[in-house]
Amino acid sequence: MAGATLRSALTASPLPELAELEQVIAAAGSHLQRRVLCDVESGPQRWPVLAVTLGNPDPAVPGVGFVGGVHGLERIGTDVVIAHLRSLVMRLRWDSSLHRQLEALRLVFVPVVNPGGMAQATRANPNGVDLMRNAPIDADDAVPFLVGGQRRSSRLPWYRGPAGAPMERESAALCGLVEEELLGRPFSIVVDCHSGFGTRDRVWFPYAHTSRPIPHLAEVYAFERILEEVHPHHRYIVEPQSRQYLAHGDLWDHLYRRALARPQCTLLPLTLEMGSWLWVKKNPRQLFSRQGIFNPLIEHRRQRVLRSHTAWLDFVMRAAQSHRRWVPEGAARELAHEAALSRWYRGTPA
Ligand SMILES: [Zn+2]
Repeated sequence: MAGATLRSALTASPLPELAELEQVIAAAGSHLQRRVLCDVESGPQRWPVLAVTLGNPDPAVPGVGFVGGVHGLERIGTDVVIAHLRSLVMRLRWDSSLHRQLEALRLVFVPVVNPGGMAQATRANPNGVDLMRNAPIDADDAVPFLVGGQRRSSRLPWYRGPAGAPMERESAALCGLVEEELLGRPFSIVVDCHSGFGTRDRVWFPYAHTSRPIPHLAEVYAFERILEEVHPHHRYIVEPQSRQYLAHGDLWDHLYRRALARPQCTLLPLTLEMGSWLWVKKNPRQLFSRQGIFNPLIEHRRQRVLRSHTAWLDFVMRAAQSHRRWVPEGAARELAHEAALSRWYRGTPA
């Protein structure tokens, strides 16, 4: 009840997600650190891109990044990330096992990467640039028309920004934070929460710019194996993004390649694509609302989405913390790599 009242009070603000995030930060006190990565303007308004860090800053411990709101229309991704942060903050008040976990783990949150786009209800940022097509990386092969990224016009969707221009402020800020907070670590996982594709929840790993496999295929395969063992009834389809379509300018391909350039650094960037077509199927009126295509509009459905990812986000933290116990090495790694090639690259697309 209190939650519902609070939510309706917050929706009176033009960007309730930022207000909610600030409230969670305030509730956390000294357990976390708040940083403004940059400011963005949309019309007369200015919005901060906020990052939250908690846990052990020692570069020897593994890290996990939780990212949302890269696309301004996909508010449910931001909601999932803030709900997870809120849950951790509340647990920090009494849960000594979480305190112990955070002695061995660094956590980084950027729940609203694109506040300007969210405030004006567009996928792109206020400059019309799709932040997930904005990194300096070109696809190897033909990409699907428009969706794969285009430089024709910022008035068309999936605009990459002008050729040769620096990255947009929001993408550059996110990349800077990942470089600083995660790429100096031996092992990190990032979960970037989106919505919009199909009816099933998908977990995409790189590459998006080529159908070649990543060098850390064995690690992703082992990650999926332990997920299957621990949560045998999970409903995520884990697959390389290239299995669905190729795209230019993918931020996580870019950061993954930056990680490859570092010695002793493993970064597994995972994109959670929540299957929003199911919400439309169950409530077809949503089709007539731009927000409704990408977000569950009915409150009980929204709550179910927030609940359903909690166990998985917690699993990701545990997996990162204990990576040395499940990441394969030597001959086992070769075997896992081969099995993964058969699983994802030699079969027919799902
Ligand atoms: Zn998205």
